[in-house]
Amino acid sequence: MSHDIAKAYQDVLAEIAAAKARRTEVPREAEVTLVAVTKNHDVAAMQTAIAAGAVHVGENRVQEAAKKYAEIGAAVKWHIIGHLQTNKVRQAVKFADLIHSVDTLHLAETIDSEAARIGKVQDVLVQVNLAKEDSKSGVYAEDLEDLLFKVDSLPNLRLRGLMCMAPHYEDAELCRPLFKNMYKIYKKIQEFDYQRANINYLSMGMTNDYQIAVEEGANIVRVGTAIFGPRQY
Ligand SMILES: *Cc1c(COP(=O)(O)O)cnc(C)c1O
Repeated sequence: MSHDIAKAYQDVLAEIAAAKARRTEVPREAEVTLVAVTKNHDVAAMQTAIAAGAVHVGENRVQEAAKKYAEIGAAVKWHIIGHLQTNKVRQAVKFADLIHSVDTLHLAETIDSEAARIGKVQDVLVQVNLAKEDSKSGVYAEDLEDLLFKVDSLPNLRLRGLMCMAPHYEDAELCRPLFKNMYKIYKKIQEFDYQRANINYLSMGMTNDYQIAVEEGANIVRVGTAIFGPRQY
């Protein structure tokens, strides 16, 4: 039996709306953007999601994203969500609407110079590794402020907020304290005195934990499996 992508997409939207209604410490009306994570799924699957209403797509590998971009183009917003190698930055900057995964000054500077080369200001998020997992990228919380100001000083970058990945727990409830903590950090860094940053995105929550992330203040969620079914590697 084939997986019904259009129905699954609508179900995820309904889950997001229900999670917003359960918010207690976060304004209920604050919008949530659903990024449909299409990695390891083909262009046909992507087209089905777009026909069902998807307007944001996320990819973690630049080459795969670029191939799909060549077919689909700017009809949707392109999110680069995975760890970005500096040798892939030139390609990514050509089509990325938002890069979620800035975690070092070196990467930020590379994006800045490639963006400058093509006359673009690139929107970026800084990825935070709050749980200090070795398997994940992201800046540690204690180094965040320093990196934010350095990113803010780069003229062809526009800092838009923060991204994080929670550890994978069987019981997604265990992610809640981390999401709460991320929201607190997000609210705090919004108040800093920047040159050009415009902080209004908090990207957190995946298939396993997006409802909880939305309850705790995520305004971008990145959902793959719940929309497209399991990935074949
Ligand atoms: C793959 C991926 C997702 C989506 O994962 P699912 O569990 O399939 O929803 C979200 N964020 C990042 C950074 C990813 O690499």
